[in-house]
Amino acid sequence: MLETLKEIVCAANLELVRQGLVTLTWGNVSGIDRSRGLMVIKPSGVAYAGLTPDAMVVTDLDGRVVEGAFAPSSDTPTHARLYQAFANIGGVVHTHSAYATAFAQAGREIPCLGTTHADHFHGAVPVARLPTAAEAAERYERNIGEVIVERFRALDPDAVPGVLAAGHGPFTWGPDPKKAVENAVALEAVAQMAAATFALCPDVPPLPAHLLDKHYRRKHGPGAYYGQKKDHLKEIQ
Ligand SMILES: [Zn+2]
Repeated sequence: MLETLKEIVCAANLELVRQGLVTLTWGNVSGIDRSRGLMVIKPSGVAYAGLTPDAMVVTDLDGRVVEGAFAPSSDTPTHARLYQAFANIGGVVHTHSAYATAFAQAGREIPCLGTTHADHFHGAVPVARLPTAAEAAERYERNIGEVIVERFRALDPDAVPGVLAAGHGPFTWGPDPKKAVENAVALEAVAQMAAATFALCPDVPPLPAHLLDKHYRRKHGPGAYYGQKKDHLKEIQ
């Protein structure tokens, strides 16, 4: 079942490795079929080298396996919670990519310091708080999702498609698994740039709001004009 989604999710997991965001097996990508309420995710602890679409695991949004020979990623309940809370997302990525994880471990958000950041995230990439002892004792992975959802109560997950789980690492999302991977790549790049910028200038102010808005809106939303128009792409295909 969900063969196309399995191929997409498998390819997205392999792309994470190609992009250098994965050490050992610390990373996973999922995708959702909203019409069926089912998600497809990487199996837990399986080496990337032999990863095939057949190895992907289908679960429901309570994390129960619906189809698959392997156990799903241990982060499955976190992904599921994000799909439930953020209605427009179709893919979720988790990594321990080094610079984004460094900000997460510092408990420090990544402010928008430049246009690279503004092109992808409309504002600071926030930090979701540490889970409490009670939240860690039971349903830990589900509760990581809960603290992320809590952090986004006053934020738009479509405009800021990523978060730093405090003391842990980044989660990103997007309309599909491929886009969620792109956002993971962008987040690691802006985290690296921000760390270097803070080293040069610890008191650097964030990018002014008019430039944040300009750069975000030229790539996203009704007035977007960055890249090729869809009609033009059709012509050259
Ligand atoms: Zn993790």
